[in-house]
Amino acid sequence: MEYLRTVKYESELDKKFLKEVVKHSECDKILECIQCGTCSSTCPVSLYMDYTPRKLMAMIKGGFKDDALKSKTVWICSSCYSCTVMCPAQIKITDVMYALKRMAIEKGVYSKGIPTPVLAQEMSNIISRKGRNSEMEVVTRMMLRTNPFGMLKMAPMGMSLFFKGRMEIFGEKIKNLPQMRKLLKGLKEAK
Ligand code: SF4
Ligand code: SF4
Repeated sequence: MEYLRTVKYESELDKKFLKEVVKHSECDKILECIQCGTCSSTCPVSLYMDYTPRKLMAMIKGGFKDDALKSKTVWICSSCYSCTVMCPAQIKITDVMYALKRMAIEKGVYSKGIPTPVLAQEMSNIISRKGRNSEMEVVTRMMLRTNPFGMLKMAPMGMSLFFKGRMEIFGEKIKNLPQMRKLLKGLKEAK
């Protein structure tokens, strides 16, 4: 796996990064990481990550903000919670991954070589608009932004799902959209 480091000198480290991450829900115990590596050894997909979960925890503590936020690791994480269950320091590693995903999207610095952040953004936009995800719309929007020509390849599968009634073109809206928007606004303000 290729390592893409952006931090080369100590002066480039962001000493406030740990504080920023710890502010997120369930991320308060990162400082207690003892670097035992249990998370990395239990993670079923660590083989495909650019930084293992153990290394990512050390990077957060060390202030490697750019490297952590641009890493593919957070997007490869499948949220299986194995690491969280096994961590002897009871660190909620899966929630830390979610926090890093949110920060990477908010700051627009997510890994560009992987479609998952775009998928997450588009899904969040659709849900904010309609209250519900629309499979056809989310896949179309993601493909247009990441791999427009790949859509041609996927078209037969999309048509087949559509004719079998497994995919709707326009998707559904929930009944009380204003109430949901109020809820989302409240959540944003409470941050
Ligand atoms: S299992 Fe927990 S304590 Fe061990 S390296 Fe991973 S996060 Fe740190
Ligand atoms: S939650 Fe993510 S990081 Fe943790 S073991 Fe599962 S895939 Fe790996």
